[in-house]
Amino acid sequence: MMTAGPATPRPAPLRNAMSIDVEDWFQVQAFAGTIPRAAWDRLERRVEANTDRLLARLAEAGTSATFFTLGWVAERHPALIRRIVAAGHELASHGHGHEPVDRLGEHRFRADIRRAKRLLEDIAGVAVQGYRAPTFSLGPRTPWAHAILAEEGHRYSSSVFPIRHDLYGAPDAPRTPHRPHPDGVVELPMTTLRLAGRNLPCAGGGWFRLLPYGLFRAGLRRVNAAEGRPGIFYCHPWEADPAQPRVAAAGRLSRWRHYTGLARMESRLERLLRDFAWDRIDVVFAAAVGAEATAAGTPGAGAAPRHVARRRRPARALAAE
Ligand SMILES: [Zn+2]
Repeated sequence: MMTAGPATPRPAPLRNAMSIDVEDWFQVQAFAGTIPRAAWDRLERRVEANTDRLLARLAEAGTSATFFTLGWVAERHPALIRRIVAAGHELASHGHGHEPVDRLGEHRFRADIRRAKRLLEDIAGVAVQGYRAPTFSLGPRTPWAHAILAEEGHRYSSSVFPIRHDLYGAPDAPRTPHRPHPDGVVELPMTTLRLAGRNLPCAGGGWFRLLPYGLFRAGLRRVNAAEGRPGIFYCHPWEADPAQPRVAAAGRLSRWRHYTGLARMESRLERLLRDFAWDRIDVVFAAAVGAEATAAGTPGAGAAPRHVARRRRPARALAAE
């Protein structure tokens, strides 16, 4: 006869890292040839309302995430930056002006990340430790980038995509956390699935809207189960905004990539938040980043304890503010 003994505790599910690249619909690289930078300030800004919708979805799911935010956006929407932090999320940098790093070159890269980090830290009062390059533009052509990120007070980068793609990618880069430069920050590469000798993207973005949801879920489950390690998911506020203005002059491929699946993005994200356990990058990759031990060494470190203390604040606090 079987007795009802104490249930065997199930292992806590592996947590994946959720990230949002906070930029507006007109700042994507696919439209760079169509919408000049000088026109940005004349266009309808939708990033604040779109980011608020993602914040609401995350609050409903009780999930914390990392928000890689453009300095350009922070300058114009400081209240949004403070809401992101107040809701318990990690504030990180997406640089200032969204120019690909390989085109900026060393000196302009340093100025760009310095400007963004200072802006974000001044507005939010927390230390910014993470960086994601626009259009995943770190790779063999930017061997100096990880060292400059460290010199400017960052702790990690999540900017290398080890795939082959027409716009970006470093197909020969390692797929797991590594230090590309001995004096540089640790790199947490975007998640790929190793299949038949090739790296396939499994990190969100356009693929998440274009491919069937079940395919993406199976891919991430495989990374979690077969490799025993977390994945990094990313999306943009504009991806959940089917009503955004259409850029008719952009090329067909760009328009297809940008506009397909916008209407189903929010419900897909809700499923994704239910189907996996998620957290901020600095929490999921705490061992690789060494966040607790090293935060004191970064500029703005005076705010770091507050930043750490706020991590466990329930995401629902947002709704009450
Ligand atoms: Zn971006």
